[in-house]
Amino acid sequence: MNLYEMALAQFERAARQQHFSDGIYQVMYHPKRELSITFPVKMDDATVRVFTGHRVHHSTLRGPSKGGIRYHPLVTVEDVRALAMWMTWKCAVVNIPFGGAAGGVACDPRRLSKTELERLTRRYVTEMEVLISPEGDIPGPDNGTNEQVMAWMMDTYSMHKGYSSPAVVTGKPVEIGGLEGRKELTGRGLATCVLEAMRLQGRAIAGATVAVQGFGHVGSNTARALQAAGMTIIAVSDSRGGVYNPAGLDIDRLIAHKQAGGQVAGFPSADAIANADLLELPCDVLAPCAYQMQITAANAPRVRARLIAEGANGPTTPEADDILNENGVRVIPDILCNASGVTASYFEWVQDLQNFFWDVNEVSQKVQEIMRRAFGDVYSLSLQRQVDMRTAALMVATQRVADALVTRGIYP
Ligand code: NAD
Repeated sequence: MNLYEMALAQFERAARQQHFSDGIYQVMYHPKRELSITFPVKMDDATVRVFTGHRVHHSTLRGPSKGGIRYHPLVTVEDVRALAMWMTWKCAVVNIPFGGAAGGVACDPRRLSKTELERLTRRYVTEMEVLISPEGDIPGPDNGTNEQVMAWMMDTYSMHKGYSSPAVVTGKPVEIGGLEGRKELTGRGLATCVLEAMRLQGRAIAGATVAVQGFGHVGSNTARALQAAGMTIIAVSDSRGGVYNPAGLDIDRLIAHKQAGGQVAGFPSADAIANADLLELPCDVLAPCAYQMQITAANAPRVRARLIAEGANGPTTPEADDILNENGVRVIPDILCNASGVTASYFEWVQDLQNFFWDVNEVSQKVQEIMRRAFGDVYSLSLQRQVDMRTAALMVATQRVADALVTRGIYP
């Protein structure tokens, strides 16, 4: 099963619980439009390399499409289709006025120099300019892209327009219209979901143990937020390996260690742990925040966490979902659990459109309110309809998208 087949299987599972007409079902099933390109980039040694990139708009029924740009060697158009579809559901679950999109370039950003990465980014944006705009489609960061890449995207688009257009991308540096505190908001939103779930299960927060897979934008901020809430982070990993200390890791020191050496491995006063073993540690909360399809039918029976908080998009396959459900492991699904990232992006976009900047505390409070409300909507529906939280989240989302379609009508 590829990532897109996985997204469709999840959608079909939720749609079976509803009564959509075939026409509405088909509109939500298919991506609205997609563009794949190959483009040349001049490398530092004067050779030319050709890269492949994609951008998919899954839906614009609830507003302009929104979604990240991924730089990863294995990215395919199927991955991008899945991510675009999940963005539609994610924006609908938290009820912000965006549709869903995603983009990606098959490349390994760690093997490109800064200047090569800049040229690749500027050319990709130029090729994609028929699709992106502040009113129509707003990219943001994802695996392998960061604030600097977003700054180059904003600058390239602005150069072509002849005026500065900060609202065309989100996740930018603060100096050019980015949102203060944005990095922390993704982790804080995820922590809000974990705390709500534990409260509803009557479980203690203080000292609850957490394992976090992935230590990039989402993973490091999730670990920091859960530690700040009083939990003990016992293990963390990145693509080069992990570190484990049952007494707890100091996350701020670990972030500094990763910044200095580029990996979490080698952190003092911790043992090494393989990525596969981290997923199977006995702990209260497992937060997969790295990459897709990490929890599968092969390892799901050995997952010993009681709660899974999906920071990554698509970390759990549908077969694994069934096994986890049977074993009583509750999963807070990606489209809810990591939605504070796009919710924060919504406030960044609004501030750049209005040229009126949010106070960091005000936006943080608004994002947390939205996350708590969305968690409540999904949790209540899961109880009412006796379905798992992924199915409930998809039911909330697809109903909102279907309602938008019915209200707008079919053109012409
Ligand atoms: P990132 O590139 O900043 O970090 C990814 C981290 O995962 C890195 O530490 C990397 O070394 C590690 N990693 C990669 N493969 C791994 C593996 N097999 N095992 C263990 N670690 C591995 O990416 P990110 O932006 O933090 O995104 C992570 C996930 O969160 C992705 O699924 C992405 O789609 C999702 N997401 C990102 C955002 C965002 O705003 N950046 C928002 C919502 C969801």
